[in-house]
Amino acid sequence: MTKHAALWNPLADDSHPAGWITSDAITLSNLIHQGVQPTPLLVCSGGTSSRCAADGLWTLDLRARYRQLIINEDAEEVEIGAGLSMAEVLEGLQTRGRAIPVGLSTIPGCGFVLTGGVSPLTRSQGLAMDHIVGLRGVWGNGDIFDLSEPVNPASTGTDSNNETHHQWRGLLGAAPFLAVVTAIRLRTQKLAPLAIWRSTGNIQQLAVAIEAAEQWNHSASLQWVWNENIELFVTCFADDPDAVKAMETLEKLLGDFAQSSMTIVAGQHAQPPFGTLARSTPATGRLHNEVISRLAPAWGQQLPSLIADLNELMRNRPHIGCQISAQQLGGVSAQVPVSRTSFIHRDAIWKPWVSATWTAGDEKGRKSAIDWLLRANNLLSNYCPGVHLAQIHPHLSCHNEELNDAFQNWLPGLNQLKYHQDPHGLLPPL
Ligand SMILES: Cc1cc2nc3c(=O)[nH]c(=O)nc-3n(C[C@H](O)[C@H](O)[C@H](O)COP(=O)(O)OP(=O)(O)OC[C@H]3O[C@@H](n4cnc5c(N)ncnc54)[C@H](O)[C@@H]3O)c2cc1C
Repeated sequence: MTKHAALWNPLADDSHPAGWITSDAITLSNLIHQGVQPTPLLVCSGGTSSRCAADGLWTLDLRARYRQLIINEDAEEVEIGAGLSMAEVLEGLQTRGRAIPVGLSTIPGCGFVLTGGVSPLTRSQGLAMDHIVGLRGVWGNGDIFDLSEPVNPASTGTDSNNETHHQWRGLLGAAPFLAVVTAIRLRTQKLAPLAIWRSTGNIQQLAVAIEAAEQWNHSASLQWVWNENIELFVTCFADDPDAVKAMETLEKLLGDFAQSSMTIVAGQHAQPPFGTLARSTPATGRLHNEVISRLAPAWGQQLPSLIADLNELMRNRPHIGCQISAQQLGGVSAQVPVSRTSFIHRDAIWKPWVSATWTAGDEKGRKSAIDWLLRANNLLSNYCPGVHLAQIHPHLSCHNEELNDAFQNWLPGLNQLKYHQDPHGLLPPL
């Protein structure tokens, strides 16, 4: 039970866990029945979040053992082991001309899919989670499960139907609190070329771009990063003429740019890096960070005041690595009924996230960064009522508030599920 590969997240990588578990599902189930101490047991799929390993706790590392990629005959479905990264999944599917919508980076693992999975393609293809058709794994109580998407989740016929629907809903968006998912079956999409326009811009141009994007009803989505500079990053399908036109109209509307480029790529496996235009001087040294993600419907009239608040936050950031970014969702992701998954903010069209950064070992720097993160989170909550729990923070003071904002009136249902599926609190608390 030794650590066999570095973690992508430096904060988790620098921690001193009690140890590493790499068992198969049956051994894990037996281990859970015998009792794992201390709890919570942490889970690592891609190892990109700050909470996949921590001082004094065990981490179940899925990366070595759960690596299968099984594409069915017509390539419309794929089963992936929970230890694969999104880059590995795309690489496997590419050979069959298929893909799944992934995020702005292909580095994350299956935590991306299980916690929602907001993609630049979400507006036309839905969340990554909306492609899940089957899940295998081990509940926090040690029971092994193998679930398929309920045929008609809306009809609540028998008690066992109801129970399956609840479990399904819980796993899609709240799995980290309930179970260890070891394999995911997903519907795939046809691999199609993308047009991507990237540019730097000023604060006024950011406001104009957000206002324009809020009116879009095609495949285009706007992403942006605010650091030393502001980077705008628009993605759409290259064969969607309305979206390409909207992209060109936006470019004209915004006028001159210091740097601006349009590229056509074969798919998300070839998308350019997001965020590199936002900083001319990269932060150096070993850096730690924490990220909080929020969800919001259209900002509309609130936009000027939001931009002013963001500007104030950015002017007072404690470290040059601290930044605020956002990606656009909505469209197809808004068509999935709220009662179907634990991603309840189906009216959201913006997912802004705040990254608070400090130099590893600088305790004062950490405190300032976390204070800034919590202040930014507080401020953003006025504009973004929801939370996207893509990163969990049981170790920070905002954890309970984040749970409330993420799950709202579905939280009691989740707590009931936790009571049955993880009664001894093996996994992080709800
Ligand atoms: C560079 C980068 C780009 C990103 N871009 C996007 C983006 O475009 N859109 C977006 O929505 N998010 C994005 N994210 C956020 C990312 O998707 C989430 O943080 C996600 O939870 C990371 O999953 P992971 O498997 O890589 O990380 P991990 O740290 O291994 O896991 C994250 C959390 O999920 C839980 N978990 C992981 N796997 C399982 C499992 N199999 N069973 C039960 N619980 C599990 C863990 O307990 C952990 O708390 C990005 C993150 C990074 C680092």
